[in-house]
Amino acid sequence: MNTDLRESLQREFPHLEFLHEKEDLIPYSFDGTAAHYSQAELVVFPKTTEDVSRLVRFASDRSVPIVTRGSGSGLSGGSLPIPGGLIVCLSKMDRILEVDTKNLCLRAEAGAITAQIAQAADAAGLFYPPDPGSMRISTIGGNIAENSGGLRGLKYGVTRDYVMGLEVVLASGEVIFTGSKCVKDVAGYSLRDLFIGSEGTLGIVTQVVLKLIPKPQARRTLLAIYNKMEDAAETVSAIIAAKIIPCTLEFLDAMTINSVEDYAKVGLPRDAAAILLMETDGPSGAVEDEAAKMADLARQHHAREVKIAQTAEESFQLAEARRAAFSALARVAPTTILEDATVPRSELARTVKFIQETADRYGLKVGTFGHMGDGNLHPTFLTNEKNEEEMHRVESAMKDIFDFAVGLGGTITGEHGVGVAKKPFLAKALGDLNISVMRQVKKSFDPKGILNPGKIFDL
Ligand SMILES: Cc1cc2nc3c(=O)[nH]c(=O)nc-3n(C[C@H](O)[C@H](O)[C@H](O)COP(=O)(O)OP(=O)(O)OC[C@H]3O[C@@H](n4cnc5c(N)ncnc54)[C@H](O)[C@@H]3O)c2cc1C
Repeated sequence: MNTDLRESLQREFPHLEFLHEKEDLIPYSFDGTAAHYSQAELVVFPKTTEDVSRLVRFASDRSVPIVTRGSGSGLSGGSLPIPGGLIVCLSKMDRILEVDTKNLCLRAEAGAITAQIAQAADAAGLFYPPDPGSMRISTIGGNIAENSGGLRGLKYGVTRDYVMGLEVVLASGEVIFTGSKCVKDVAGYSLRDLFIGSEGTLGIVTQVVLKLIPKPQARRTLLAIYNKMEDAAETVSAIIAAKIIPCTLEFLDAMTINSVEDYAKVGLPRDAAAILLMETDGPSGAVEDEAAKMADLARQHHAREVKIAQTAEESFQLAEARRAAFSALARVAPTTILEDATVPRSELARTVKFIQETADRYGLKVGTFGHMGDGNLHPTFLTNEKNEEEMHRVESAMKDIFDFAVGLGGTITGEHGVGVAKKPFLAKALGDLNISVMRQVKKSFDPKGILNPGKIFDL
């Protein structure tokens, strides 16, 4: 960004904090996607919707690209800077504005941290279910932009299912509110739904109204241990086919189990080929019944042991072990490339086998974990971006896995979004006509192409 532009921005917004020194910009030059980097040039921290609106007008008048940023925990390169552009980071707009216990909803600024939203709901005796593994760092704006999932997606759905209303700054700088506190609202097109999962390319979310639900009465957490990965996958398919919908059905393979043990030492079995972490919640009687059925199905599918957590502390420890998976794998090699392939749940066993065979075929190290109950797997390649030849092999392996998933009726991303990381694979997953319709939507919302250009697809 040229100095004149930066100085006039700083003059126009004297009450805002800016970062422009090279060392301050390093953390804003990448997100959680290790292999992607782009030098940030200027970061600004708005404090109000009015600030965001004026910043967008300023940028629009001069055709300066804007990248919105929450916490930068994204895993598809969505908040990577655009050369010559401005980063609008909403981390200072983090207030929880209202917990409305009469209408069971909560209103917050878009920079509020997901875990704080969950805690505010809990303090009011209510429940905000979406819980991405990153919930202690991610912002609700980032969750909405990525339509983030999480460990409870199987039973409770994803972020989209809890968004009632959004305040959004459009590419013109105008501010709209879309949606309402009403449970039913079908007046016109659902613009709200268009913004969810749009990865910061259609507007900047500044405030959100989220649906809350009553807290489940009871919960039970189980750990099933396997000598074969495919048996764990078959258990998941069998649980779903038995019409049991637990709130959590998470998978960790041997590499992930051992990395978590090295990192967090929670007592997972190092010699297992895979474990399933299962949780059921709801009315007490139903929970006991469901837990017993899941334990039976796990044994029928050759679990060598099924443990049922006896205390809330034990349940929490197990969930923490799962949450630590990505960070634990990230310590194994200099570069972790985490994928997000998703398949119909009946195809899980074939898919975990294919992932391992693919890694072996290319001579690569892979750890696989994920929200298996959703069919959402995170094969994570443990590599070194400085080794160009190995990176080519990783790319080929990823392509093979995406082709395999799409061939099974699956998709290239279940929750992390397209950003720049999955862009080369989007046409394969969606076809050209779908992308062409998306381009038209983008053009009508953002005719000058200033909002996160080059992400998801090129115009
Ligand atoms: C350890 C770890 C575990 C994770 N686990 C999960 C998981 O279980 N499930 C899951 O779905 N994801 C997971 N993620 C990915 C990531 O946390 C989510 O994508 C999250 O929603 C990103 O939020 P953020 O605030 O960090 O957004 P950022 O990374 O800053 O931005 C992500 C995208 O959203 C856009 N954006 C951000 N804020 C706004 C806004 N206010 N308005 C418009 N656009 C905006 C950005 O431009 C960018 O395109 C994990 C990441 C890590 C590092």
